[in-house]
Amino acid sequence: MHSYHEQLQTHALNDLTTRAKSGILTYACVWLILAFSYELDTNHPNFFYLNTGIIAGIFLSRISHFIMLKNSIGPKIVFMNQWLVLTILAAAAHWGGMTAWIIFDDNLSDLRTIILIITPAFALGGACTLSISSEIRTLYPSLMFLPFIGILVYQGDTESLILALLTSICLVYIYSSTKATHNDYWAAITNHMVAEERAEVMEKLSTTDPLTQLKNRMFFDSEFTKEWKRCSRLKCPLSLIMIDLDFFKKINDNYGHVFGDECLRRVASTINSKVARPTDCVARYGGEEFVVLLPNTSPQATKMLAQRMIDAVAELELHNGEEIVHITCSIGGTTAIPNFENNQESLIKIADSALYYAKNSGRNRYHSEDIT
Ligand code: GH3
Ligand code: MG
Ligand code: MG
Repeated sequence: MHSYHEQLQTHALNDLTTRAKSGILTYACVWLILAFSYELDTNHPNFFYLNTGIIAGIFLSRISHFIMLKNSIGPKIVFMNQWLVLTILAAAAHWGGMTAWIIFDDNLSDLRTIILIITPAFALGGACTLSISSEIRTLYPSLMFLPFIGILVYQGDTESLILALLTSICLVYIYSSTKATHNDYWAAITNHMVAEERAEVMEKLSTTDPLTQLKNRMFFDSEFTKEWKRCSRLKCPLSLIMIDLDFFKKINDNYGHVFGDECLRRVASTINSKVARPTDCVARYGGEEFVVLLPNTSPQATKMLAQRMIDAVAELELHNGEEIVHITCSIGGTTAIPNFENNQESLIKIADSALYYAKNSGRNRYHSEDIT
């Protein structure tokens, strides 16, 4: 079971990956549009090939990350998270560097206007979409803006300084607007996980018997109906055994209810430890009575299992101070292939009557009856 923190991180990483998905193609597409529109391969070949190489490298890194995460073949969550964040930041650093290059290099002046439109749009879009991560929220727009703000300040003329001031205001606006979306996201997923956890606890409480921690009668009833229908569809046998402790009233009378409760807990865990299949259902049916539902189990297998439970309960050593107390139980069982002629209640009635027989014929034994 993952820790709460790890679950939150995994959830956030999946969300970040989903949100970052569109970015993988956007960069590459915008770059290709730019390259075709301005015929970069012929007009500025060095600029074109260098940037195409870097964008292709980042593209491949993002695709491999996406595939590894999707197929769950990636290493630890922390590493996967760092990998994604670093590649996204590398993309921002590259784009920011490229923007600065265009502003700085007079040979690339034809690209200046378009890049001053694209870069802030990328910075705002990316920082808002990926504001889940606090590193991306702040570093992504900074890496896009600061290199060319630096160049503008370095150039020092009035027009450049005004441009530097305006883009700095834009950067501050991005920081503040993404802060709100970042906080909203984390508050929402934290609340969501707390609610899920509470629902799980409530569900467990409503289906568990508080004394023995076995399933309770309500859970058993719904499971019984479900298995009855399933076995009826598949035409497979369904066995039911009822377990009642022998002379338990005497245990309470002689040793007190607290000791009686401890006996019930120990017996419950002993019975539960004998069933193996996940579809088997052990429940506390009433006071000191337990019921076990065994789908797809033959009468012979049911008998063997019941006998194992009887032996294990009889072998239990229950300590009341210095004294060791032993206890036994009686079990009644039946097996049926559910169909139109028999019904659910009859299975319980027959198992109950078999239990009554086991009690009357000496207790500490199993008796089974066939459904008619
Ligand atoms: P028998 O062999 O015929 O079953 O005899 P018995 O004394 O076990 O009779 P019965 O099955 O009627 O037992 C019911 C007793 O189980 C009554 C009550 O004292 C005890 N009991 C029921 N629920 C609890 C419980 O939650 N805790 C404790 N300590 N005792 C319980
Ligand atoms: Mg009883
Ligand atoms: Mg009893």
